[in-house]
Amino acid sequence: MSVPPAPALRPELLDVVPYGAPQLDVPVRLNTNETPEAPPTAFLADLAAAIADLDLHRYPDREAVALRTALAAREDLDVDRVWVANGSNEILLQLLQAYAGPGRRAAGPAIGYSMYPELCRTTGTAFDVVDALEDAGDADVLLLANPNNPTGALLGLDDLRRLHAVTRGLLVVDEAYVEFAPEGSSARALLDELPRLVVVRTFSKAFRLAGLRVGYLLGPAAVVDGLRRVRLPYHLDAVAQRAAVLALRHEPAFLAHRTRTISERDRVASALAALPGVVVHPSSANFLLFETPVPDLFDRLLARGVLVRDVAATVGRPGALRVTIGTPSEDDAFLAAVTAALGGA
Ligand code: PMP
Repeated sequence: MSVPPAPALRPELLDVVPYGAPQLDVPVRLNTNETPEAPPTAFLADLAAAIADLDLHRYPDREAVALRTALAAREDLDVDRVWVANGSNEILLQLLQAYAGPGRRAAGPAIGYSMYPELCRTTGTAFDVVDALEDAGDADVLLLANPNNPTGALLGLDDLRRLHAVTRGLLVVDEAYVEFAPEGSSARALLDELPRLVVVRTFSKAFRLAGLRVGYLLGPAAVVDGLRRVRLPYHLDAVAQRAAVLALRHEPAFLAHRTRTISERDRVASALAALPGVVVHPSSANFLLFETPVPDLFDRLLARGVLVRDVAATVGRPGALRVTIGTPSEDDAFLAAVTAALGGA
């Protein structure tokens, strides 16, 4: 009997490797930019009661009104200028589904968040890599992480104003790490001034809820309405909606680690930079991009139980690595492993 042919995958997916950092069970995991501290105990204590009365036999609120209302109050915006989805990745997907897609173009910087080209391929959007976003020409959507991933670099509000002035597409400022940047860095302040600007944020990083999968968008009501046209019905589950509302009530406790994380980042950066041949890039996020003379440092660290992110392909330089700031003891283990690996080079 002959084997039936496999279903015909879209040709552009044939050589694709499923996206994602390795999920390895090692002692020190510093590769996906989560906050190393668990959510506050007071939040966890309230969580069971907060979700106990949900009607889980019913579909969730398609419009996630309670969560969007809570976010709108936090941001001092009308609720129709706030959107939520299953992680900020889903927000980005919906933006491309609604504003890009076949026949349209998106643009992003040569060194940027590696999901942007993936999301463009998935949505049939042409993706232009540009040295500077000012060169994006007539791209329909501009994708910019600020602070950037994996560099940690931060553009100022005047840079964003200039960028908006010289481009004509939807300017997506992805602020996944903005809570680690200096006060006043958020493009939220420009929303009333720049009509093609949207700000995308997440609960996964500084908000310590990567397991919950909630991201949100702030922008013009017309864009929110655009996203409502492409979202799946019930795209954000009822537990996540309720838990995110509760998290906002506990916001000061959730974000109390920020100053600790920032000073820990600066400690790790100085210690790394003091090692022979190591270059550390300035970072406004909770991770550091660094380069060393040891091409197989990623494997050497892994052999010592320390998992970092290999970003050589994204950065275009062999040996480029990104390390998430962890707890002081995780960071000490990382620094000890780098020191040992460099010494043995
Ligand atoms: N944007 C950037 C720049 C990121 O680094 C990440 C996570 N790695 C995301 C968006 C997506 O985060 P999430 O889907 O967890 O909200």
